[in-house]
Amino acid sequence: MSYVETEHSGGTRFRLFPQLPTLDQQQEPETIWVSSPAGTVMPGPSDHRMYVIDPVGKERAYGYYPGPGGSTFHYRPPWQGPLLPFAHPDDDGHFDHLDTGTYEFEQAHAFGAIRFTMDIWERYFERRLEFHFRDHYDRLEILFLRGLDNAFAGFGSIEIGSYTLKTGELVEFGLSFDILSHEFGHLIIYNEIGLPGKTDVNGEYFGFHESAADMVALISLLHFDSALVGLLEASSGNLYSFNRLNRFGEVSNNGQLRSASNEVTLYQFAGGWVHEHDLSQVLTGALFDIWVDIFHENLLAGGLISSELEDLSDRLEGDPNYQAIVQPLFDAAYAQNPGAFADALIASRDYMGFAMAGIWDHLSIETLDYADVYKTFLEVDHAMTGGQYHRIIRLNMERRGIGVISAGPRLAPPDETSHAFSDRTATPDDQQHRCSRHLPYAIRREIAQHR
Ligand SMILES: [Zn+2]
Repeated sequence: MSYVETEHSGGTRFRLFPQLPTLDQQQEPETIWVSSPAGTVMPGPSDHRMYVIDPVGKERAYGYYPGPGGSTFHYRPPWQGPLLPFAHPDDDGHFDHLDTGTYEFEQAHAFGAIRFTMDIWERYFERRLEFHFRDHYDRLEILFLRGLDNAFAGFGSIEIGSYTLKTGELVEFGLSFDILSHEFGHLIIYNEIGLPGKTDVNGEYFGFHESAADMVALISLLHFDSALVGLLEASSGNLYSFNRLNRFGEVSNNGQLRSASNEVTLYQFAGGWVHEHDLSQVLTGALFDIWVDIFHENLLAGGLISSELEDLSDRLEGDPNYQAIVQPLFDAAYAQNPGAFADALIASRDYMGFAMAGIWDHLSIETLDYADVYKTFLEVDHAMTGGQYHRIIRLNMERRGIGVISAGPRLAPPDETSHAFSDRTATPDDQQHRCSRHLPYAIRREIAQHR
């Protein structure tokens, strides 16, 4: 039984790990389909939207570097040096025959993860997604720089590094659907909403960027049968108590931990903020809670759980006996009709996907803050459902302080953990942005204090 609604006929098969194999019990990758017809994905892999390369001897990441005489050198795609061998398709044009543990598998994995994410979001946007660098490049370059302690969506590229855990275990980001999908999320926002650096943006823009990238990854993750069914099996649909989504982003860039299920509010940042990853948790947490509430509404509407159970779940939230009382009731309800629970989860996932695309379509960089996201969500829900979920949206946004207060100023200049404010994202003619990193620290601090 498959819950994935991708167009299978004529597409190309890949095998992906919904979670990093090192972090998950599940060691087997899952087969998915991307929309490019079998036979059109060339060695690399590469197709008309993106291509993967694995450079040999590339010593540093793309970005801006000091050149001779105080000039600035923009190091950017395409890489023209030597390459490791490409991953090749099988005789039928698919890429699901490659052995795990090989470079070729990792190359195919990176392509498949990003291409799959693009397909999912083109369905939600109901149109082709463009790249913000389309005037300079026709296609996205996806490349490996093993040893780079990060992954970046940049100008024309997604560059993929690796990360060494405290245990010494090496985590290849090319095998992380979460990270690759998250980076593609940044590219969606750059194109749909605009680049920081060109405009004097509100600080919440940066938190929004991270949150949006996380929502892209999270919603995309639930397009894997194993993630969707695994989540339901583990929770019996009681998403507040235990869930796989809690583990989302477990190993993220620079060890940044993110959690969609969190209690962070905007009140905690009233005095200011330092890392956009922290600030993003407020919005992601609100959106996640909205999602879960809508899912539970769907369960109720479908007669899959009783209104007594929903009341009980609300009433006992935070109570030490919650788990012992509520979970057995969910277990019993889920056991009666697992397929309908899956349908309800898919419906809520797709509601969130279409809602996010609708919201991002309407936001503009000049006015973007969390309150604007909140207001736009109400409008989009009105257009989608006639305002069926207004109460849920209001409750969860305002509980976080969204629409009530604003975050204070950025308290420190962005560092290399910043995804959205990286000089890799700048465009070639973006002078102001390009130079900000090279200012003396005291001046950057001044700017940050007045931002
Ligand atoms: Zn990010």
